[in-house]
Amino acid sequence: MKALVYTQPGEMQFLDRPMPEAAPGEVVLKIEAVGICGSDMHAWHGHDPRRRPGLVLGHEFVGSIVASGAPAFALGTRWTGNPLIVCGHCEYCVQGRNNLCANRTMVGMTRPGAYAEFMSIPAASLIAMPQGLDARAAALTEPAATAWHALNLTLRALVRPLHECRVLVIGGGAIGMLSALLLRHLGSADRLTLAELNPLRREAVARHAGCATVDPRATPLAESSFDVVIDAVGAKATRTQALVAIKPGGVVMHVGLQDWASEIDMRKLTLAEVTLLGTYTYTTADLRATVDALARGAFGDLLWVEERALVDGQQAFVDLDQGRCASAKVLLRP
Ligand SMILES: [Zn+2]
Ligand SMILES: [Zn+2]
Repeated sequence: MKALVYTQPGEMQFLDRPMPEAAPGEVVLKIEAVGICGSDMHAWHGHDPRRRPGLVLGHEFVGSIVASGAPAFALGTRWTGNPLIVCGHCEYCVQGRNNLCANRTMVGMTRPGAYAEFMSIPAASLIAMPQGLDARAAALTEPAATAWHALNLTLRALVRPLHECRVLVIGGGAIGMLSALLLRHLGSADRLTLAELNPLRREAVARHAGCATVDPRATPLAESSFDVVIDAVGAKATRTQALVAIKPGGVVMHVGLQDWASEIDMRKLTLAEVTLLGTYTYTTADLRATVDALARGAFGDLLWVEERALVDGQQAFVDLDQGRCASAKVLLRP
C-alpha cells in the first residue's frame, strides 16, 4: 500500500509500506479521509521527540473495515475512532476520564497513523457513526471533540449561564473555528469575539461562525473585558493576552499548547479570582456525543474544510506552514 511517511523535518514522502494485518482484537481500515492536525504540523517541523522520522502520522480518520480480528466488527462497515488507545482498567479509565489513561498510547505516534491507504487499530478504539455520515464530517470528529470537551469543562466552571457571558476565542485554527461554531450552536455568536492574526482565517471564521473577529496586533484586546477566554493557540503571547483580557471572576480555558514555558500573571490570577483550566483531548463519551452533534449539523455545513489528495500531502503541510491556507482544516484523501 501507499503511505505518506514523515522522512525528516519538513519532509513527507509518498512511499510503499507493507499492508497492515488485523491482529486478534484489531481491524484494518481502508482510510477514506484523514485530517492534518496542529500536532502533525508540530511533528513535521521536527519539534515532537515522540514522533520520529519513519513514522506515518495522522489520527483524525474515517474508514471502512477491510479485515477484522474482532468478530463483532463486520467487513464493509464505516467508523471513525479514538486515536488514544486506552487500557480500560486504570483509575482514570474506570472513572470515564479515559483521556487521562495512565497507560495510553496513540495512533500516529506510538503506532502507524492514517496518512495511508490502510491502517490497523484496536476494535475497542472505534467510534460508531451513522453509516451515511459524510466523510468530511466524520473525519472532523476528533478535533471537534477536543473543542467539545474543552467547552464542557468551561461550562462546569462558570458561575453564570453561558448566554450571559462575553466570550473570547484566541486563534482561528481548527480548534478555534470549531469552538466558535459550537458556541454559535449554543446561542453565543452575538457575544463572541475571535482573535486571529491571519486575515484569511479571520474572514473564514466571520463567514462561517457569524461572530466578530479582531486582529489583536491592530486592535489590542481590552483589559478585563471577557467572562470567558478560550486560548486555542497556547503560546506565551496568547497566554498573556488571555490573562489580560479576562474579567475578574472569569474562566480562562487553555486548549492549545504551542509552547510550554511561560510566566503567568499570578497576581491577577489570585486577586481577580480567575479560574485557569487545562484540557486534554476528549473522552470516549465526548467522541460519541460529537459524532451525534456533527450528524445533526451542530457544527454547520463544514464548507470551510479543504480537501486534497494524500499524494499531495507534503504540499499541504508547506501551504499550512506558510499561512497560505484560508481553511483551518485540510483533509487528505488516499
Ligand atoms: Zn488532532
Ligand atoms: Zn487506562
